[in-house]
Amino acid sequence: METDETARLLAESVTDMVRRRIAPRLDGLPPEPVSKDVLVACLRDVATTGYFGVRVPERWGGSGLTHVLSGLVTEALPAFLGVACIAQEATIFRLVAGADDAVREAYLPGLLAGDLVAGSAISEPDVGSASNAVTATIERSGDGCRLRAGKLWTTNGTVADLLVVLARDAGSDSTARVLVDTRATPVTAADLPMSGLTRGHLCSVTVDATVPANHVLTSASTSTKMTDSWTLNRVSMGLLACALARSAVDYAIAYARTREQFGRAIARFQLVQALIADAATSVEAARLLCRRALADLDAGRPAVLSSSMAKLFATETAIQAILKAQQVAGSYGVSRELPFDEWLRDARMLTFPDGTSQIQQLIIGRELLGVSAFT
Ligand SMILES: Cc1cc2nc3c(=O)[nH]c(=O)nc-3n(C[C@H](O)[C@H](O)[C@H](O)COP(=O)(O)OP(=O)(O)OC[C@H]3O[C@@H](n4cnc5c(N)ncnc54)[C@H](O)[C@@H]3O)c2cc1C
Repeated sequence: METDETARLLAESVTDMVRRRIAPRLDGLPPEPVSKDVLVACLRDVATTGYFGVRVPERWGGSGLTHVLSGLVTEALPAFLGVACIAQEATIFRLVAGADDAVREAYLPGLLAGDLVAGSAISEPDVGSASNAVTATIERSGDGCRLRAGKLWTTNGTVADLLVVLARDAGSDSTARVLVDTRATPVTAADLPMSGLTRGHLCSVTVDATVPANHVLTSASTSTKMTDSWTLNRVSMGLLACALARSAVDYAIAYARTREQFGRAIARFQLVQALIADAATSVEAARLLCRRALADLDAGRPAVLSSSMAKLFATETAIQAILKAQQVAGSYGVSRELPFDEWLRDARMLTFPDGTSQIQQLIIGRELLGVSAFT
């Protein structure tokens, strides 16, 4: 674990960076996907913290930032940007784990600096939780590889310079991840209108093109490191949910202090205090589960169980905590005037990526019972 002082200093400087640099860029923008220029400017800011290099060896430009400290950065980010950064970091990790040195040299510096935008395309219209069933195909021939893929819900899809696409070796059961440089390869992508995280890019992506043979990364199914890519993502999603819930609880506390009914501040009523106490306690418990999973990752301990527990508990708890905080604000809480509805819609979105809540339950069950109930 980091010293409290290191963590405090990092949290302060990241909060300050978000307030001074990132928030002004987003101020006044409509609730629609941000432009690539805005996203890249934000990614460059986040890159200065070392966030994208947390799982990159030093010789490839890794930052040495610990998982626990990277969690402090995650918590400070607006949720849509956090999801974009998680996609960027996970794609970098997949390149580090599966690409050859030439590909790493070509792309890692730009990705780590936030100059290039990346995403991972796994889900398809008919393939979600059962990601091993992807129908995208690759056909290897000579020095090239034909990729045919129709993907859905790809974070950063329309703004990505690089996509890592999960596909099946034609005529075989094995899957592989394929790097697509969208500046050199024709890709059709469109933003999908979503109910939450509306400033982010959740996209459909279609590719039917030939990519260089060395853009086929190490087989996804045989590389154990690929499994590891989910663990940090899951905890990070949990931390984004905690941050949304903390905003809601903070708002409810301030509201309860100033709103008066029956001749006194509603903060004086025990039932209002119960709403706030329960919400705040559950969010703090969720944060601690997330921090424990990050500490497992830092220590090199198995983190499949702890990261699934963290994601399941944090995302589901955040929704309940936001609902309680919203209750404190009465009808104002459900008006468009106050931000509770946006926090709620954003938190709902986080229960799906990197394994839905039900998939996390199945992973936890499998880890505890030693038998899989997936099928
Ligand atoms: C904010 C966000 C970001 C995302 N980013 C990406 C991305 O970058 N790349 C990408 O490829 N995808 C991304 N996704 C898609 C996400 O990974 C999928 O939505 C998720 O894997 C679930 O797939 P699905 O939506 O098709 O649901 P389905 O798998 O069809 O599931 C539907 C319902 O059935 C349940 N279910 C499924 N299987 C079981 C089972 N065995 N037992 C019990 N219940 C089950 C699920 O929990 C769910 O409630 C993102 C989604 C969101 C919301």
